[in-house]
Amino acid sequence: MNARESSVGWSLSRRTFLKATGALGAALALRESCEGVLRSGPARAAAAQAQPEKETVVPTICGGCHQNCGMLVHVRGGRVVSVEGNPDHPMNSGDLCPKAQAASQILYAPDRLKYPLLRAGKRGEGKWKRISWDEALDFMANKLKEVRDKYGPMALAMSTAAPVMQCSRTTFVQFPAVYGTPNRMSGNNCYVNRMLALVATFGYRAEDDYDQTRLILLWGGNPLASMRAGSYAAYDGLQRPILDAIERGAKLIVIDPIYTDTAAKAQQWIPIRPGTDGALALAMLHVIINEGLYDRGFVQDWTVGFTELTELVQDYPPEKVARITSVPAETIRSLAREYAITKPALIHEANAWAFHTNGTQTCRAIACLMAVTGNLDAPGGPVCFPGSAGDRLTVVEDLPPTVQVAAKPLGADKYRLMPNGPSVFDAMSSGKPYPIKALIVFHSDPIVVLQDGNRQRDVFAKNLDFLAVIDIFHTPTTQMADIVLPDTTFLERLDYRHHPSARGAIVALRQPVVKPMYESLPGYDIELKLAARMGFLDKYPWKSGEEMLNHILKPSKVTVQDLRKKPVQFITGPMVYKKYEKGLLRPDKKPGFATPSGKVELSSSVFQKAGYDPLPRYIEPAESPVSTPELAKRYPLIGMSRRSATFVHSKYRNIPWLREIESEPFIRVNPEDAAKRGIADGNLVIAETKRGQIRMRAKVTSTVTPGVVLIDGCWWKPENLSDLSWTLNALIDMEARDPIGNLATLSSFLCEIKKA
Ligand code: SF4
Repeated sequence: MNARESSVGWSLSRRTFLKATGALGAALALRESCEGVLRSGPARAAAAQAQPEKETVVPTICGGCHQNCGMLVHVRGGRVVSVEGNPDHPMNSGDLCPKAQAASQILYAPDRLKYPLLRAGKRGEGKWKRISWDEALDFMANKLKEVRDKYGPMALAMSTAAPVMQCSRTTFVQFPAVYGTPNRMSGNNCYVNRMLALVATFGYRAEDDYDQTRLILLWGGNPLASMRAGSYAAYDGLQRPILDAIERGAKLIVIDPIYTDTAAKAQQWIPIRPGTDGALALAMLHVIINEGLYDRGFVQDWTVGFTELTELVQDYPPEKVARITSVPAETIRSLAREYAITKPALIHEANAWAFHTNGTQTCRAIACLMAVTGNLDAPGGPVCFPGSAGDRLTVVEDLPPTVQVAAKPLGADKYRLMPNGPSVFDAMSSGKPYPIKALIVFHSDPIVVLQDGNRQRDVFAKNLDFLAVIDIFHTPTTQMADIVLPDTTFLERLDYRHHPSARGAIVALRQPVVKPMYESLPGYDIELKLAARMGFLDKYPWKSGEEMLNHILKPSKVTVQDLRKKPVQFITGPMVYKKYEKGLLRPDKKPGFATPSGKVELSSSVFQKAGYDPLPRYIEPAESPVSTPELAKRYPLIGMSRRSATFVHSKYRNIPWLREIESEPFIRVNPEDAAKRGIADGNLVIAETKRGQIRMRAKVTSTVTPGVVLIDGCWWKPENLSDLSWTLNALIDMEARDPIGNLATLSSFLCEIKKA
């Protein structure tokens, strides 16, 4: 049996595997540390008396974040004793980040939600009564029936998580549709306006073809820290594709207000004023078009709107944009020339483009920049790998819901291309155009993750008749719930993940490694049991989690059973480049891109039809020293939110090993700004905006450009769930919003800091 066959089989001897991978020393060290935690006190004594049991190694996929890396879990006597990266999984090739290393602490955490809990005090008091699943599901079904009878089905909204918990893409998606509501409060918080802009421009969400590129423009992303080299693509390692490309001779340029870990590896770092990326993209287009550096053949054959774009970019000469962005005009020129002349080149798609009130048009401007150089879907460019969003030919498009709600979601009149999200909170707060009276939260912890947790708490308390939360730990959001239900962790649940890659689309199985702890149930089982009580089951084409997964996997032509025999499978052939020439991007199989015109739409017909500017004109962020100079006198610093790879969103702040790495959140501030305010490294500081205050310690560091503060986002205090003084979102709200993408700002807000 070779290493690949063994690792994708059901189990193998641990020692044989470790010999094969040469990882014995490291893995033993990790196992010792896991066992040190797992076997403390009585557990250690019991283990000492027990007969030695055979250890098995179960291949599964991590659920610590969106990446869903391959993981080998060592199990003995029904307990996880250690984890390691699966060297044969194309996502990570054996790499694991700290979150995964802490998997056993997550699974065996003493503060896991163990049983259904019914609120026994006022909302927010944290008083609970343990109840049975039957009582919990009856209670929930009755409450949801009451809300439907009194206000109609659209008074229910869902808040589901990012695919961190992969099942959140599919679990509790059928239920609201069958109940009759299209309203979803979560989701519009990072990638949606980027996806909207890229798909409207060229019909797919770009992945990076690092293997063949000669220039990587990393604009607002920090993949060497975040472990996300692509959107969802598998590259045989979490950080390696970028490091390998650099070693191979590719140039790395980072554009970011922060000197990030990735910038530290780059040949050039270009700091920029937060929120002005769209202006920089237009100035680069100005240079590229006016100097004739674009790909004339590609532009002529495959784009529409070039004349209009050319006219637009005349308004953005480098000298003018230098004043907007703080990037010197000569740097803009040389960057534009280098990007246009170097073939192939790619621009990495990053969350930071989208976090501002001008996010959607920024993404459109960068999409145009990707297109005019002719790099789209070319080797080494921004490509559509098999299995990418936008690849029409493969994989798992048969997602729930299978029934469609005829009514338009909230916000559909104002945000015609991106309803829902903050528009649901608008209706919940105001009762207009109709009230939201019930909310089911699946893992997403909106009080910490979405904007203005304090206001959300008030609105939940005053306006919701019913709030249910399904999660694995208590969070600030569970504190406002009427009922809290315990989900399983990723080590206790069946699930799947698919990844795009150059070698072909991949489907991988998440298999339960141990039985569900306590009384926890997988989310899809909770959904089915609730659906049964509501009389909805006839609207479900599946009757179990496994059947649901088989329904979703149908287009891939593999089943859960197939994946049990071989948990990682390539389900397509390898990448075919320039698919637009071959009729491989459009549903009608004609040559071209999957846009209304079949061409790359530099002037977007989708935006025009929806009543938006079809050209990616630059507009200042809603709050900035330029757009709100009076406010900037009082709040002269630009606040940005930082995400850390130690955690994901608001998850795992209660996990000791991870808190050893990052014990508390920090506000990072440039030494110049710190000195002006008498702040020293480690001082407790208050950060304030016109909306609220938080308190964190300062890290004084020249990695942050002057005039900017970088604040750790998505923090909360597991020690005190009602204390939001570590929660960045007290500084922002859902008012300042991208008028197209309906995304409330997460970065570029005006603030001031002072010593506490
Ligand atoms: S990056 Fe880390 S947490 Fe995320 S899936 Fe991979 S190993 Fe797990």
